[in-house]
Amino acid sequence: MRRLMLLGPPGAGKGTQAAYLAERYGVRHISTGDILREAKAAGTPLGLLAKGYMDRGELVPDEVVIGLVKERLAQPDIRERGFLLDGFPRTVAQAEALDRLLEELGMPLEAVLNLRVDPELLARRLTLRRSCPACGAVYHLENRPPKVEGVCDICGGALVQRPDDAEETVRNRLAVYSRQTEPLIAYYTGRGLLVEIDGEQPIEAVRQAIVEVLEPAGR
Ligand code: AMP
Repeated sequence: MRRLMLLGPPGAGKGTQAAYLAERYGVRHISTGDILREAKAAGTPLGLLAKGYMDRGELVPDEVVIGLVKERLAQPDIRERGFLLDGFPRTVAQAEALDRLLEELGMPLEAVLNLRVDPELLARRLTLRRSCPACGAVYHLENRPPKVEGVCDICGGALVQRPDDAEETVRNRLAVYSRQTEPLIAYYTGRGLLVEIDGEQPIEAVRQAIVEVLEPAGR
């Protein structure tokens, strides 16, 4: 399968798993959060528009993110390599727009992997998360600490806390998730695409569970 989506609340491990799957299968990782963070760091008009919403833990308006994804999906490498959506869609309106877009492109989704994690655990994961702005590596101060405090194992960059991982903002992001994004579980169940993955397992076990869905034994 090469046309995939990772669904799940903030902190469920979507980005970590997506990075691995993109590397293993060559599918293109499309993270609207990453695209928006890059735009914000570069100070582009898109970044300036998105900043306020992101810093408050709210969603950037649908038409903005739909436009970004539309542009990315139309690029030729996507048809060739496939895609893995991460953090998009986040509202039913985004999901409906995506359906229309993929239908126009003749590239329907093959599976939606829903990473399930208890909300209490999510808050801990997010507030203890640190990331490397230079290479995108993600750490957790308890479960996956860097070898040297504050320094990226991979590229030596200085680790930071995403501004939206501060405690107050995390609470808001989780509330926004349950109000606006959780309905997508029913949406994709209704389309026969949803696959449940236990996202509370260690990273390697989650990875294995996903690989088993993508490469069923004996196929
Ligand atoms: P993420 O890295 O996926 O948690 O996204 C970080 C932030 O970017 C979110 O809290 C939103 O403010 C914004 N964002 C990312 N993806 C979307 C989306 N599909 N719709 C609206 N806002 C988004």
